[in-house]
Amino acid sequence: MRIYKFGGASVSTLERINQVKDILKNEQQEELLIVISAMGKTTNALEKVAEQFFSGNQKEALALFQQVKDQHLDTAKYLLVTHYLACENDLINFFTEVEWLLHDKPVRDFDYYYDQIVCVGELLSTCIVSAFLNESGVANTWVDVRDILRTDDRFRDANIDWSFTRQQVDKVLRPLFLATKLVITQGFIGATDENESTTLGREGSDYTAAVFANMLDASHLSIWKDVEGVMNADPKKYPGAQLIPTLNYTEVIEMAYYGAQVIHPKTIKPLQNKSIPLYVKCFLDPQLPGTVIHNKPIAHLPPIIVMKDSQVLLQLKSKDFSFIGEQEVGQLYHLFEKLSFRPNLTQNGAISFTCCLDDRPEKIEALALGATDYFDVTVEKGLQLLTVRHYHQDVVNSLVGGRKVVLLQQTPETMQMVVR
Ligand code: ASP
Ligand code: MG
Repeated sequence: MRIYKFGGASVSTLERINQVKDILKNEQQEELLIVISAMGKTTNALEKVAEQFFSGNQKEALALFQQVKDQHLDTAKYLLVTHYLACENDLINFFTEVEWLLHDKPVRDFDYYYDQIVCVGELLSTCIVSAFLNESGVANTWVDVRDILRTDDRFRDANIDWSFTRQQVDKVLRPLFLATKLVITQGFIGATDENESTTLGREGSDYTAAVFANMLDASHLSIWKDVEGVMNADPKKYPGAQLIPTLNYTEVIEMAYYGAQVIHPKTIKPLQNKSIPLYVKCFLDPQLPGTVIHNKPIAHLPPIIVMKDSQVLLQLKSKDFSFIGEQEVGQLYHLFEKLSFRPNLTQNGAISFTCCLDDRPEKIEALALGATDYFDVTVEKGLQLLTVRHYHQDVVNSLVGGRKVVLLQQTPETMQMVVR
């Protein structure tokens, strides 16, 4: 058993959906679960529908939803001939579910409505792709993941009920592979025990794929992206970015911690627990080797660079020149926790405490205000945080250039600098 996950970018155009078909055409000998995201930017579009609905702008919500409907119907029309009517029928059923809701007035929390509306993106995309593959001779079975993946009712950030989901995997999912070797389902969404739809947090499809890899004891998980694989830096920000052919789970978790947007951080644990290798592959050119992530130590890694812009440096000095001890630091961390605001870097001195944070103005203000009870506070904005793992001095020098380093922290593996 293997798992393939295709993200929104891999099903965003007709051409790309065709590429997915070409990849899957050659993959029908072994059981394969295919997890797919919503097409392109559909999730963002549905978020807007939810926002308009919740603000009482029913007309705008319906108009925005109409655009999502039209896009999907158009895509289905272009891709399908013999399977069009059946697929259209399925799509209309999903549209109707959302439209019923949009005709009501909101009486529950925003997050509840968000999930009921946003979940449709994955349902629509998988319906179309499944019908297209079947029509193209790539036999597959479509399944509504909400009949399998059970969660609690923490809408927009739902937690998976592992034991119930495992049972459903055996009862509902496994038998489907008897009919066709390929089974298609949705990432990112699930349902509560009351059949309310839930979502697992933005970009959650990677996580869904990893959960199923774990429960189905998959031999590997492949995540298909529009990039060559995992790079040692964001190529948009760093022209010298290069592919990293092999990584391990620990390094990926570290990279995610420092802010690299590689793979949803929750994805790693379910794979690590069963030593299931993760391949990051490029659907634009399946011949490329991509990146493999596994459990084994890796001797030589290139410098891995993470650049975070729009950083804020907060400097706190004790008012009476007394040392900043455990009590003061405790109070600060209490504030971080209260605001759900994690500093990216902290440094403690005798009479000062410095931290680097993302520029989220309301939180910065609340933090600075809360800290003025005990400290003199200064705030500097517009900085960059550079993190280099496995650093060499020449790489660090070229990254800093002529700029001024205002804070530096260094361990044998990782160097972090806040630069002005
Ligand atoms: N469609 C969802 C999102 O855009 C989930 C995913 O793509 O992983 O966040
Ligand atoms: Mg996505």
